[in-house]
Amino acid sequence: MKVILHNISKTFNGREAPLPALAPVTLHIKPGEFICFLGPSGCGKSTLLRLIADQIEPTTGQIVLDGDTPTSTRQQKAIAWMAQNPALLPWQTVLENVRLPLQINRQHQRPAPTPHELLDMMGLMDFASAYPGTLSGGMQQRVALARTLTTGAPLWLMDEPFAALDALTRETLTGEVLHLWKKFHPTVLWVTHDITEAVHLADRIVVMTARPGHIRGIVTLSQPRPRDETTMEIAQKIREVRHLLRNREQPVTGEPT
Ligand code: ADP
Ligand code: MG
Repeated sequence: MKVILHNISKTFNGREAPLPALAPVTLHIKPGEFICFLGPSGCGKSTLLRLIADQIEPTTGQIVLDGDTPTSTRQQKAIAWMAQNPALLPWQTVLENVRLPLQINRQHQRPAPTPHELLDMMGLMDFASAYPGTLSGGMQQRVALARTLTTGAPLWLMDEPFAALDALTRETLTGEVLHLWKKFHPTVLWVTHDITEAVHLADRIVVMTARPGHIRGIVTLSQPRPRDETTMEIAQKIREVRHLLRNREQPVTGEPT
């Protein structure tokens, strides 16, 4: 799915004064591109994903998804959105939770991994009939990830999906996510705090400034995956991202491609 963000901004009605959460952001994302958003806490990354997911309305600007509006795209169940908290149904088992989107949008059959395949990938096969309350936070997060990926939606909006996971699990799942991305070609917008995670996943890393967030700069990676962060090229990319995150004086506007 092609994603066009044109001058989108969001100002919330704060309790006393308006709260600008996101400054105008313009970005063109190619179909099948993997974009990672990095930036300080509170800079509007979740707000940006919620705007695209049609959870909230932008204050200014337009969002165009394959020539269509976010509302219409959401109604066609073409958006897989994973929020920061797993929000599983406690009275349903792990397998039932993962199957839930399929039961809700039966009319939109798209090529997608099956719930069983995903549970296997996430190392959750032995917990298929367990209830979420009995699982650790990291395991619940993996269930939520499986539930998101089973929809076959052409646009994935992922809000820090690996935040609650230990380093080893994160490394394994990075490989699984890339495998699914290569197989199903979704456009992915992935929010993370982790520079290493971003350089393993992204075609482009979009670095945001502190609130109200805007684009400080974009780092493009063309190295084939799987990537090794100890190679010179990747280490150089990590330095570029760090430099953008640190440099608070001169905002650089990301140029749309
Ligand atoms: P991030 O995901 O980058 O940490 P968020 O997008 O969650 O940041 O939030 C950006 C800013 O907008 C924060 O200051 C947050 O408190 C504020 N904010 C987010 N949602 C709302 C809301 N519904 N009402 C008021 N303020 C909000
Ligand atoms: Mg957030």
